[in-house]
Amino acid sequence: MKFQAIKGVRDILPPESALWNRVEQTAREVFGTFGFAEIRLPIFEQTDLFARSVGQETDIVSKEMYSFEDRDETSISLRPEATASVVRAYIQHGMQTLPGNVKLHYMGPMFRRERPQKGRYRQFYQIGAEVLGASDAPGIDAEVIEMLMTLFERLKLKGAVLNINSIGDKNCRPAYVEKLRAELVKVREQLGEDSKRRIETNPLRVLDSKLEQEQGIIEKLPRIAEHLCENCREHYAEVKRQLGLRGIVYQENWRLVRGLDYYMRTTFEITAPGLGSQNAVCGGGRYDGLVELLGGPATTKGIGFAIGTDRLVLSLQEAGEDAAQDGPAGKAAGPDVYLAWFGAAAQSAAIGLAKRLRDAGFVVELPAVEMKFGKSLGLADRLGSRHAVIVGDDELAAGIVTVKRLSDGAQQKVGEQELFSYLRTAQNPGI
Ligand code: AMP
Repeated sequence: MKFQAIKGVRDILPPESALWNRVEQTAREVFGTFGFAEIRLPIFEQTDLFARSVGQETDIVSKEMYSFEDRDETSISLRPEATASVVRAYIQHGMQTLPGNVKLHYMGPMFRRERPQKGRYRQFYQIGAEVLGASDAPGIDAEVIEMLMTLFERLKLKGAVLNINSIGDKNCRPAYVEKLRAELVKVREQLGEDSKRRIETNPLRVLDSKLEQEQGIIEKLPRIAEHLCENCREHYAEVKRQLGLRGIVYQENWRLVRGLDYYMRTTFEITAPGLGSQNAVCGGGRYDGLVELLGGPATTKGIGFAIGTDRLVLSLQEAGEDAAQDGPAGKAAGPDVYLAWFGAAAQSAAIGLAKRLRDAGFVVELPAVEMKFGKSLGLADRLGSRHAVIVGDDELAAGIVTVKRLSDGAQQKVGEQELFSYLRTAQNPGI
């Protein structure tokens, strides 16, 4: 019997994994400069945590969660997202007593039983960040978005488009939702099955329907911008002004409502090229009531986002940004040095030399068994090695090694010090 990975789940193999490392490393660096620290969260939580926060009626909770009964008969779910866990941890550890805003970032796998396609998987990865604290100042929203755009710029993601919206708060949204529902009831028969159901459960979600037949109807529906209360209107205007101060270009999209219940006021989404229909690489927004909903202090506000790492990597690959980069994380496959040794005495010298080379940061491939010269050098070539360093009886006797540049076969005999400086120069020709 041959095993296969489960449908919708995949392996991330080298060399693609090097690009993943570069993306995650860059996120850590950029988020670090904005004062965010990493939180590592559990992969599973009580099912109720997600039902309460993401929302019982959302697709994520009602159809897509991997839930199971634990041996003590409690219901547990693999996390479909991580904001709920961050908030749970914030409350559990009394982080509201920490000075200033609590700024956390996370990365890791999420699980949703969706229909798999390009850019949509059942185990996928997110890199996210959250700001929790007493302030809901629009400057926080704008800075969080600035941090995201800085990351994308640093990764050379081209063609990213930022969409923003405000979906109001508990003062103004309920009245808007009722108005929307009333309008939707009138056109009920022209709607698809999902939207018909959502008239009852979640009329806002009708707005992000992609169903062709509904587009004309949706365009005529009342828009939230005209129904925001004074506070929400001012907040949204200030978020836009603050984005402007940061030179961030955005598009307003009144239909951007997001599929999770906890969002309020600012919502945003970023799309990227090369992804087909699943073109959102990041979604986020403000969730001021969530901490209270989960049993924490009512004064704590929150905002955050989650980047779909799989899609970000895909988009970078499509744009050719997966080529070799400086630094070990993004290094192209293939060792700096293939250390070919011949004879027992040479093996012992080679083991020592390999250690010194690796300590100096070179990637070294040391054959575990002795091979014939031709076979050994052939393997060096096939592995994509940049140099072969040859240690045989002659070299040992003379206290030197032979170094061969595999791109053009240029070869010379050098002492160990010389070898190190030769390899360093080869790595950084500018220096
Ligand atoms: P959400 O948590 O639904 O707000 O999604 C945030 C981001 O995660 C999206 O913009 C996608 O980039 C990514 N994402 C969500 N679901 C999936 C999935 N099933 N497969 C791959 N990426 C996903």
